[in-house]
Amino acid sequence: MSEGPGAFVVSLDTELAWGTFDVGKIERYEPAYRETRGIVDDLCALFDEYEVPATWAVVGHLLEDCEGTHAAGPEPTYPWVDGWDDTLPCRTGVDRDLWYAPEVLDRIRSCTVDHEVGLHGYTHMLLGEPGCTRAAAEREVAAAVDVANDHGIDPQSYVFPRNRIGHRDVLADAGIEVYRGRDARWFERWALPSLARKPPRYLEEALHRTPPSVWPRERGGLLELPGSQVFRPYHDGWQWTHPDSQRRRAVAGLNRAAATGGVFHLRFHPFDLGFDRGRLLEVFESILAHAESLSADGSIATLTMAEASTRHR
Ligand SMILES: [Zn+2]
Ligand SMILES: [Zn+2]
Repeated sequence: MSEGPGAFVVSLDTELAWGTFDVGKIERYEPAYRETRGIVDDLCALFDEYEVPATWAVVGHLLEDCEGTHAAGPEPTYPWVDGWDDTLPCRTGVDRDLWYAPEVLDRIRSCTVDHEVGLHGYTHMLLGEPGCTRAAAEREVAAAVDVANDHGIDPQSYVFPRNRIGHRDVLADAGIEVYRGRDARWFERWALPSLARKPPRYLEEALHRTPPSVWPRERGGLLELPGSQVFRPYHDGWQWTHPDSQRRRAVAGLNRAAATGGVFHLRFHPFDLGFDRGRLLEVFESILAHAESLSADGSIATLTMAEASTRHR
């Protein structure tokens, strides 16, 4: 528990094809990736309307066109991918629109509210997997920070791709202060195979369980701010959950944060809204409207990851 009002934090993993190139799923999500620029535009309009600043965790390479001359360096070895560098979308002839999107940053910066731009890697490398050496992690983080600096950003927050947390010291050395921890649920924290996480995730949605309030804590020289709830897409099976469960859960999570003085941390990928966009935007707007009403009576503050971690530590 902490003194003062609770907080509402939204973090967005902004990645396009970088999120799935290593698992061969670009084609499957391509229609949603192509909608991402429009979705970012819609989200920015809503954030401005409800005066909610978000943390956009951006894959650094989205801001840089290497024109196929991707610099060589230490790379991770993962059992499911045959050479990390050789598989990168910038080197395998994937349409540039799917992996290069500097206009997304321009749109975020055109907003009236002051969003935070954080990092989600440079190539979406999974730092917490055993095949990721320290040298590979250093190369990834340095490249991400460099490209951010080139765009006038001094990144404070990091979202580990697929929440595979590792090499925190490398982030701390690079000046990162905060990262998003795994959601504060037993099935996200235990070492489970990813398939085993699906039934409890689904059940949580089906039972409209109230998401937890979270607090930042110091870990490995950084502040860790866990997630509370994923704003689910309406594909990959989630379309079968109750249509109102997301809104009800988020409203309950916001109320809980207002009561406990903790943080309600909602997270998702903008492309998740790529299927059934209108309906998801409507639900998301109703969550922002509830946050606005709690903020108006002073029971929560809407903050970025970096702000909430500093204020609620
Ligand atoms: Zn490249
Ligand atoms: Zn990601």
